[in-house]
Amino acid sequence: MFKKLLAKLSPGLGIDLGTANSLVYLENQGIVINEPSVVAYNQKTNEILAIGREAQAMIGRTPPHIVAVQPLTNGVISDFELTEEMLRYFYRKFQKSKLGILPYRPRVAIGIPCGITEVEKKAVEDAALNAGAGEVYLVEQALAAAIGSHIPIFEPSGNILVDIGGGTTDIVIISLGGIVRYKNLKIAGQKFNEDIIKYVKDEYRLLIGEVSAERVKLEIGSAKVNGMEKLETIVRGRDLTTGLPKEITLNSEEIARALDKSLKVLVEAIRSTIEETPPELVADISTKNIWLSGGGSLLHNLDRLIESYCAMPVKSVDDPLTAVVRGLGIIVEDLNKYKSILTYESKDNE
Ligand code: ADP
Ligand code: MG
Repeated sequence: MFKKLLAKLSPGLGIDLGTANSLVYLENQGIVINEPSVVAYNQKTNEILAIGREAQAMIGRTPPHIVAVQPLTNGVISDFELTEEMLRYFYRKFQKSKLGILPYRPRVAIGIPCGITEVEKKAVEDAALNAGAGEVYLVEQALAAAIGSHIPIFEPSGNILVDIGGGTTDIVIISLGGIVRYKNLKIAGQKFNEDIIKYVKDEYRLLIGEVSAERVKLEIGSAKVNGMEKLETIVRGRDLTTGLPKEITLNSEEIARALDKSLKVLVEAIRSTIEETPPELVADISTKNIWLSGGGSLLHNLDRLIESYCAMPVKSVDDPLTAVVRGLGIIVEDLNKYKSILTYESKDNE
């Protein structure tokens, strides 16, 4: 009971625990953390050395006993202890903000991907509670993205939203506050990077790293559409024939070719989700937009590609990288209103 009371007294947090980026929304304040989901630690002593941007900067630059890892893979927790550490670090940042000397037991609303198993859900709850939360509410990230984008989710008409993150893409049809159809696929930002690495290796026999591939994608990455702008960038890697460093120039048409297969699978999945939707809802959604959220949706011309495949207008939500956490913030500020879409765990249930 006491812990529950503490949870009521502690400020609420909305936490978007993404494969690529983690964001925290502090009740009545807004987004207070926006960092890559990376933890660096010493393998010999198990000591945590850095979290977020600072940890990311260590990747590939540390002595062998220091490792920088992403504790989530494809949207689910792959390293439980490090996820817990990351959450503890997030909570601690606000420990003194409202309570002074009282123990801090925040109420947290955390986003989860669609269709994860009960065991995977339990892992998120346990990590959040072990890290010190008083109450934990789980909500599907795609629903949170819709709420954060002020899409009316409680209406009986259907809305379609596609959240393209780092590890996974969630395609959902939302009606009456719930997800009536969804597809979850492992084609998202990281797969696009892998496609670029593979293309450069096959075409140029040049080995480039993940960081270079990401930069190429952000600079000139594009889906293949008619009349696309031709951009160029230089990339450096290791020549697989000579073993020596080499640089080449890549253009956006090549990158579009490299991404084509993955993007076709993605747009096909969107189309089949629409096709499998109950007829009365299809009539509704076909008069609206396909909404895009998540960092992967920022790929150039992806909206146009989806539009041509699905014969529906496509719109990006405002600020696609923060839509989920803004939705979680709205939820944590008015838990009563969103009760029906939440699963709930409390420290007292232990
Ligand atoms: P997650 O929720 O899985 O952590 P995010 O929604 O934060 O993922 O999106 C991260 C992904 O978005 C990364 O793979 C990143 O490369 C990609 N991304 C970010 N900005 C862009 C951009 N301008 N163009 C293409 N991809 C982008
Ligand atoms: Mg996400």
